[in-house]
Amino acid sequence: MEQMYSVRMRAAEGGPHEKGGFHISGGEALVQKGSLEETAKLLLKKALAHSRGEADFIQLVVEKVEAESLVRLDPLPVSTDEVQSVEEGRQRAASFLRSLSISDRAITAGMELLKSSTNLRGAAVLSALTGQRLDPVKDRGIRVTRMGWNEEGFNQWCAQYPRLVSPRIAEAIALATKVAHAPFLAAELCWSDDPEYVTGYVSSRKTGYVRITQLKEKGSLSGGRIFYVMDHVDLPSLQAYLEETPVWIG
Ligand code: AMP
Repeated sequence: MEQMYSVRMRAAEGGPHEKGGFHISGGEALVQKGSLEETAKLLLKKALAHSRGEADFIQLVVEKVEAESLVRLDPLPVSTDEVQSVEEGRQRAASFLRSLSISDRAITAGMELLKSSTNLRGAAVLSALTGQRLDPVKDRGIRVTRMGWNEEGFNQWCAQYPRLVSPRIAEAIALATKVAHAPFLAAELCWSDDPEYVTGYVSSRKTGYVRITQLKEKGSLSGGRIFYVMDHVDLPSLQAYLEETPVWIG
């Protein structure tokens, strides 16, 4: 197997995130050496053409990853729930989360956090029982990295879901698949912070990746990701898996 690389990008306006810059865009990939240049170019393009604003800080980090530590996972199966309004979408999301034993308190806390977050760079980790936020750095959250599609698996996936093929969905499925297999993980809830994109999802190993066609109003900058975890979570080992374990999808 060719040498593998992790590529990470983060972009902000008004300086770097840690100096108060406004989050514009982020992206991560795990690729073989032959795709490295193209991937770096695509991530740079994503940072430069984003509807959240004009980045003046862009960081691109490339790191070698040892292939022996690679975990291989099949992508989560995808389904789509067509809804007619944001309210209906959020009710559907809540009922999926309830079916995954997420408490009503935790569902409300997750929805309120996503509604009010306009500058969250990673995911917020919430107790599935109490809804309490558990990750330490509130505006950063935990950023999942080191996941990517193997080319053959990706081509098969495109043939299976031709109407869904887009870089945005491919990236989100790689992320949701890695997250769904994390230790202590009960469910994920996401809607994008991109004002143009209103479809979101609930995902887990049990439900698969359930797209919900409206989870926020067009034009809104709010959004992010919530990772609901079980009460006996060991946060350092969850974080180590999400940030460090390389996952190869497909
Ligand atoms: P996007 O799916 O790129 O529109 O991102 C929407 C939101 O999801 C971001 O504002 C972050 O809060 C969160 N997010 C995006 N990428 C990641 C990631 N790799 N790990 C954790 N959270 C992420």
